[in-house]
Amino acid sequence: MEILDGRKTAKDIRKSIKIKVDELIAQGKRVPGLAVVIVGFDPASESYVKSKEKACKRAGIYSKLIKLESEISQETLLEEINKLNRDENIDGILIQLPLPAHIDPDAVMNCIDPIKDVDGFNFINIGSLCVGKEYLAPCTPKGIIRLLKHYNIELSGKKVCIIGRSNIVGKPLALLFLQENCTVTVCHSRTKNPEFHTLNSDIIVPAVGISKFLKSDMVSEGAIVIDVGINVDSDGKICGDVDYESVAPKCSFITPVPGGVGPMTIALLLENTFIAYRKLISS
Ligand code: NAD
Repeated sequence: MEILDGRKTAKDIRKSIKIKVDELIAQGKRVPGLAVVIVGFDPASESYVKSKEKACKRAGIYSKLIKLESEISQETLLEEINKLNRDENIDGILIQLPLPAHIDPDAVMNCIDPIKDVDGFNFINIGSLCVGKEYLAPCTPKGIIRLLKHYNIELSGKKVCIIGRSNIVGKPLALLFLQENCTVTVCHSRTKNPEFHTLNSDIIVPAVGISKFLKSDMVSEGAIVIDVGINVDSDGKICGDVDYESVAPKCSFITPVPGGVGPMTIALLLENTFIAYRKLISS
């Protein structure tokens, strides 16, 4: 069993972005910029935002944090986003989820200029991904594919089972695996006997949000398991969706939590910012 080290892979990606950014700055280009908008106070979101700021700094990307009151009206929030759409020092705009209940997340995502939509949630970018013409794809799914490729894992022809059909993980991930010529099954809360699908899969990706959801009797010998879940166990420790102790010995490759998919998500956010930056400085 080999561990897919997301932390180390993410560091390599960050370093390569920093080299490319430094080269462009040395040629006289401006510094790339990422704006992170956070609405209201949520301890988990605050912590994600801090990690994103730190990662930006390490990659030579300027980060601008915009903190807004939870009572903000949708109209005012959209005005703030439009200001960022026009800001020539900003290449990427990220709206930290979840948003307060009175705000329509689709209206917010669709207000972001698709060129600066580094989370890849704008309908134009989702549509492009759907027809195989990806520009900015969502960071977590993109990070998963990148991690597998980093370890030279052949994807073409593999049977993949994703558990979870959210718009931010499960659905875009299914599209990316299809593009890699995998055969994809997506399980969800109404799937009967998910073990029927997981036992028949080469790669299993639980993205459910339930601690220890994937048990060893759901996994075949030699499977590759990518754990997307970020949960807190009864001891207050961060854990994934996989019953790691019992599942890991059966796997050929497995991601740890923490240190697997999480750091890859942030690295791919920086990469998406760099892609948007390159497009904007050359347009
Ligand atoms: P979500 O709540 O939007 O979706 C969960 C999905 O799980 C749903 O599609 C649902 O149908 C499915 N599900 C729920 N119960 C199920 C069951 N009993 N059997 C089968 N499927 C079931 O969650 P999300 O935003 O996709 O996130 C999923 C998990 O991944 C969470 O723990 C979240 O914190 C984590 N996450 C991690 C990263 C990262 O960077 N590592 C990024 C995004 C999300």
